[in-house]
Amino acid sequence: MSFVKGLQCKECKRNYPKEPIHVCEFCFGPLEIVYDYEGIREAVSRDSIEAGPRSIWRYRELLPIDGEPTVGRHVGFTPLLKGVNLGKVLGLTNLYIKNDSVNHPTLSFKDRVVSVAITKAKEFGYETVACASTGNLANSVAAHSAEAGLKSYIFIPSDLESGKILGTLIYGTNLVGVNGNYDDVNRLCSEIAANYRWAFVNITIRPYYGDGSKTFGYEIVEQLGWRAPDHIIVPVAGSSLIIKIWKALKEFEHLGFIDRIKTKIHAAQATGCSPVTTAIKNGVDFIKPVKPHTIAKSIAIGNPADGYYGIKTVVESGGYGEDVSDEEIVEGMKLLARTEGIFTETAGGVTVSVTKKLVEQGRIKRDDLTVISITGNGLKTQEAVENSIGKLTVIEPRIASFQKAFNIKEE
Ligand SMILES: *Cc1c(COP(=O)(O)O)cnc(C)c1O
Ligand SMILES: [Zn+2]
Repeated sequence: MSFVKGLQCKECKRNYPKEPIHVCEFCFGPLEIVYDYEGIREAVSRDSIEAGPRSIWRYRELLPIDGEPTVGRHVGFTPLLKGVNLGKVLGLTNLYIKNDSVNHPTLSFKDRVVSVAITKAKEFGYETVACASTGNLANSVAAHSAEAGLKSYIFIPSDLESGKILGTLIYGTNLVGVNGNYDDVNRLCSEIAANYRWAFVNITIRPYYGDGSKTFGYEIVEQLGWRAPDHIIVPVAGSSLIIKIWKALKEFEHLGFIDRIKTKIHAAQATGCSPVTTAIKNGVDFIKPVKPHTIAKSIAIGNPADGYYGIKTVVESGGYGEDVSDEEIVEGMKLLARTEGIFTETAGGVTVSVTKKLVEQGRIKRDDLTVISITGNGLKTQEAVENSIGKLTVIEPRIASFQKAFNIKEE
């Protein structure tokens, strides 16, 4: 059972059948999945969703697969927690944290897109999957292709964090480190994709991959008790996540699951790679590609595939775009850890520090219902903080040594 009607060009609106294609052959616009919302409205309700599995597959009718999910059956439904302590520091009374740093199985939001993409790749009959990645996608494609029993080739910039490299190799994939940045990797992959019948999850079957991101938005709304928040702050790389969160909210509104949405979607980037937020600040709707220089490697894409639509999403929703320095990123990571006990990666440091800026600028008000997107896990980017978190205190196995080291007397 599937409610997918086909694919449609986002620009010229030409229709295409549901095949492993991603660009319009007339205008080169990106293709998007089109659903039969009338059918979905009859088949799906808030109650039926709530009765579903505790994973992204509770929204299965809104995902682009035909059969049952075969890969990543436990992905998603990560915690949405109230950030009381962080809220106090930032001056917010109604702050929530959507915590995909504990997504199963590879600890980032990429498990959402990959489980949908590889389930679809199997439906299409592919034997080999591939991707161009900034790190988290590599981990997730490696894990899920292992689970699916498919061959995989994964392309990354050769200078990624060791946790991201080890966390890919462990699954027994073919990992290729390219001497260059992500944009070089991506260009190479487009060339390779034209020569091999492989499912490049974020290139050749990108429309299917992208819609997995919608579940991040669905979950926020459902976990808030079927309410859309006033603000969502989203880390931006290629811009897939940010546009799909917006699509998710609009779909729930269209299906009558929530009232009229007035959510502002804010883009968060590192100053060392901020093509999207720079365009938003300059009030233009085009991307000027940049060469990335930032510790936030997972979101360091200088020429984002969906950047134009990322800008559009922010503008249409009435949100804003901000960026933060590498020092602020580290501060953001430490702040989240020390207030809420959540160890996020550099991208999460970006989101936290951008939220702080947006509050200081008066764009987010004290009592606004605000959701911070935490999309990855700090254990994978230890290099970023290892020199700014204090040292291990080593003692002899004697109480006197302990008391001396911490300068504390007996009580
Ligand atoms: C990939 C990624 C993002 C954003 O990805 P988009 O390409 O914009 O969809 C955000 N956070 C983390 C940790 C990521 O790995
Ligand atoms: Zn077109």
